[in-house]
Amino acid sequence: MKISKMTLSQQLPEEIETILISQKEIQSRVRDLGTQITRDYEKLLGKTLIKNPPITIGLLRGAVTFLADLTRTMPIPVEYDFMQLASYGQSHEAGQLALVHDLTRAVAQRHLLVIEDIVDTGQTLGFLQEELLRRHPASVKFCALIDKTPRRQRVINLDYFGFCIERDAFLVGYGLDYAERYRNLPYIACLKPDALKK
Ligand code: IMP
Repeated sequence: MKISKMTLSQQLPEEIETILISQKEIQSRVRDLGTQITRDYEKLLGKTLIKNPPITIGLLRGAVTFLADLTRTMPIPVEYDFMQLASYGQSHEAGQLALVHDLTRAVAQRHLLVIEDIVDTGQTLGFLQEELLRRHPASVKFCALIDKTPRRQRVINLDYFGFCIERDAFLVGYGLDYAERYRNLPYIACLKPDALKK
C-alpha cells in the first residue's frame, strides 16, 4: 500500500486551486490594520473612547473570523454587534438585499466600525451604509479584509482594507465560504472554476 507523505491536514482540499494569501500574511496584515485603526480612534475620540467606545459591526457570517482576530489586536475598548443580510433573486447581483438579523441596540451618536470579509460588487456595503446612516450614528467607518475590484458596481469608500485583489476569482477560507464550506481554512485560497459549475 502506498502511503502519502502528506497528512490530511497538510493537503489542499480537492476543490481548491491555489493558496492566494497565507496564514502568516493574513496575521501580519491584520496586526497592522489593528494598529492603524487603534491609532485613528485614539486620535478621533481621545478620552471619550472610554465612555463611548466604537461598536464593531460584524457581517454574519463571513466576517466573524476577521472581526475576532482584528479586535484582539486593538488595545482599546470596543463593543461587538452583528448584522446579517440575505439576497433574494436569481443571482447575487440581481437579488434584492434584506436585513435578516439586526443590531441589538440603538446606535444614535455611537461610532460604528463595519467589519466585512470581502467587498465584491459593493451592493452589500452600499445597502448597509444607507441603513446605518438613517440611525444617526456619530460616525461610520468600513473595514474589509479583501477589496475584490473587478465586478464593482457601487462606489464604496473603504476606510480600511487588508488586501486588494484585482482578479475575478472566487475566494474561500478565513471566514469566506463556498456553500458554507471552507470558512475554517486558516489561509485564503482560490476555488477551482470547475467547482463553481457543479
Ligand atoms: P457584494 O455585495 O457583491 O460586495 O458582496 C459581498 C458578499 O458576497 C460578501 O460578504 C460575501 O458573502 C460574498 N462574496 C463575494 N465574493 C466572494 C468570494 O470570492 N468568496 C466568498 N464570498 C464572496
